[in-house]
Amino acid sequence: MSTLPKIAWIGLGIMGSPMSENLLKAGYSVTGFTLEQDKLDRLAKAGGSVAGSIAEAVKDADVIITMVPASPQVEAISYGPEGILENAKQGALIVDMSSITPQTSVDLAKNAAEKGIRVIDAPVSGGEAGAIEAVLSIMVGGGQADFDEALPILEALGKTIVLCGPHGSGQTVKAANQLIVAVNIQACAEAVVFLEKSGVNLQAALDVLNGGLAGSTVLTRKKDNFLNRDFKPGFRIDLHHKDMGIVTDAARNVGAALPVGAVVAQLVASLRAQGDGGLDHSALLRAVERLSGQQV
Ligand code: NAD
Repeated sequence: MSTLPKIAWIGLGIMGSPMSENLLKAGYSVTGFTLEQDKLDRLAKAGGSVAGSIAEAVKDADVIITMVPASPQVEAISYGPEGILENAKQGALIVDMSSITPQTSVDLAKNAAEKGIRVIDAPVSGGEAGAIEAVLSIMVGGGQADFDEALPILEALGKTIVLCGPHGSGQTVKAANQLIVAVNIQACAEAVVFLEKSGVNLQAALDVLNGGLAGSTVLTRKKDNFLNRDFKPGFRIDLHHKDMGIVTDAARNVGAALPVGAVVAQLVASLRAQGDGGLDHSALLRAVERLSGQQV
């Protein structure tokens, strides 16, 4: 009989599927629930148990991990008669790894505490590849004791795991992460169009750029997307649009100016408005190409 905590996993999408599989590989028992049948089949094939509802998934769990798109989905799975708070056992620990507004995390922690349930926010960076390779950066908000309890589980999912402060702090740091990533992708996309229009060998240019100060994890991970115009997600523009909304709103609340971030937020919004919301965020290249008079 394993002495490891029993895990419930809600949200088995691009990130949640490989992450939950890494917990199975580490020896944890995982019971999952998500909206797509094929993702449930994938969990069962990997050795997990499939639940028919959130209530069924969480009822015996010691730790409940959630990885859904945004604040409305976190609220939908957490609250109400069928939600996590009504159906989890007292003393359970919720680890919400979704990227949501810091305020939603603070409110969830408060509402859960009234039911004797603990919460940490633990959003991640590193993308689908980082999830598959278990090398995610995990930014945590919450109490030290809860962080310490979750740490062995998080170590099966990521490499850099840091407690950033009280509830919501992980989300604030994740919002900053999304600002940096979007601006970096935009700069890379502008460089790609500039280099191609200048007739330079793009592959050679990106290789040498990535070895110098202009190099980045974004360039390493997204180089092939740019070279091959492969915009299969990855991280969807729809989700980055949500994150640019979170960071611009949170920055306004604290009186921080994000002039470049605001422009990139508009470019992400425009890409989405043109029907590219389902593409990977490296599709910011398409926005620069359109602005530069290229057919996309
Ligand atoms: P996704 O859309 O691929 O997956 C979301 C999953 O949530 C789906 O499987 C869906 O069934 C499930 N879900 C939604 N509502 C539900 C409900 N009511 N009950 C049960 N399940 C429900 O999204 P993703 O790309 O895996 O991203 C998940 C989160 O991780 C988002 O907050 C995103 O911003 C963040 N994130 C994504 C990446 C990435 O590269 N994809 C990287 C870092 C962080």
